[in-house]
Amino acid sequence: MTTVPGTRYADVNAVVGGYLRDLAFSQSSQQKMFGYKRAAAAILALDVPLTDLVGPDGTLPRILGIGPGSTRVIREILETGESPTVERTVDESGRRADIVRRRHLRRHFLSRAEVRRVLSDPGFEGPVPQQYRGDLQMHSEWSDGNPTVQEIADACRQRGYEYAAVTDHSYGLKIAGGMSTAEAAGQRRAIDAVNAQAGSQFRLLQGIEANIDAEGRLDLTDDEAATFEVVLAAPHSRLRKDEDQTARMLAAVAHPAVRILAHPRGRMSGSRAGVVADWDAVFASAAARGVAIEIDGDPARQDIDHTLAVRALAAGCLFALDSDAHTTAQLSYAETAIAHARLAGIPAARIVNCWPLDQLLRWLSRPSSACHRR
Ligand SMILES: [Zn+2]
Repeated sequence: MTTVPGTRYADVNAVVGGYLRDLAFSQSSQQKMFGYKRAAAAILALDVPLTDLVGPDGTLPRILGIGPGSTRVIREILETGESPTVERTVDESGRRADIVRRRHLRRHFLSRAEVRRVLSDPGFEGPVPQQYRGDLQMHSEWSDGNPTVQEIADACRQRGYEYAAVTDHSYGLKIAGGMSTAEAAGQRRAIDAVNAQAGSQFRLLQGIEANIDAEGRLDLTDDEAATFEVVLAAPHSRLRKDEDQTARMLAAVAHPAVRILAHPRGRMSGSRAGVVADWDAVFASAAARGVAIEIDGDPARQDIDHTLAVRALAAGCLFALDSDAHTTAQLSYAETAIAHARLAGIPAARIVNCWPLDQLLRWLSRPSSACHRR
């Protein structure tokens, strides 16, 4: 277990959040389980590390969503780096094997406080938030997101973006309210209206998040794909299998319409590892075709993370750093993706979101079969 005191780079909020999740999964009462889950979420979303909140007398201020049980655990961890209370509860629950499995599925996830630290630490290379010009994965009311395309454009402009892509799900993903062809045409008209109003200040692109099926095929035809300005391909099934799925991912990357391989593994923090594949082979193919590898900034996804991003960087890949927002407030998730890019030392020139709009559009209009890099 990661020790906290004296360890400069330990992500203390991630350690505490992990223990609180362990505690949640050790409860037999649903109500208590949800309580500890909420407490973990509150700690992971804090802007500052808990170590900065401790008073000179060792007391913690009241934190919204944190009850006395969680506070006791937090103090234990801050003092010793561990929590005997949690370990005892885990043993008593009889669920240690499942909880250890979940611990392994929380590796390389950053807390919000750690994201902020990485963004402001000049010791890292890679992009700074000021270089980030636009977000290329988000969802609107046209599939499983909340906002209208106008609300998305307004929120993105408020964040200083020059462009953004709305990337609702394609019709194959029924569970996420995938768009039919007719709906996509309606959304296109709504986006055109937004752009007509924005003038040269801002450009909203119509993208699509296509679903990769078991064989690596997408849930839209080539003609349909051609109507979108950016096509993302992402896996949403077979995410809990141990078997190798390299062929599936290579097939998706080889699709001539695909520009971004989105949340490549489909992992979920503490829940599933996602697709198992020879990622170096996938990255090599993506690099040769000019397909960008996404770093998805959703805190529960963080997919790919910085350790895998280092390998994609070595393979020569381009990157897309996206929020995968489903509300306008979640647009800040892009910062999580930027933090992973900094930890991996990815130069801004390799990040498509750091390109000016004309360069981005040139890349988007070039079919990947041209085998272009950059
Ligand atoms: Zn997705």
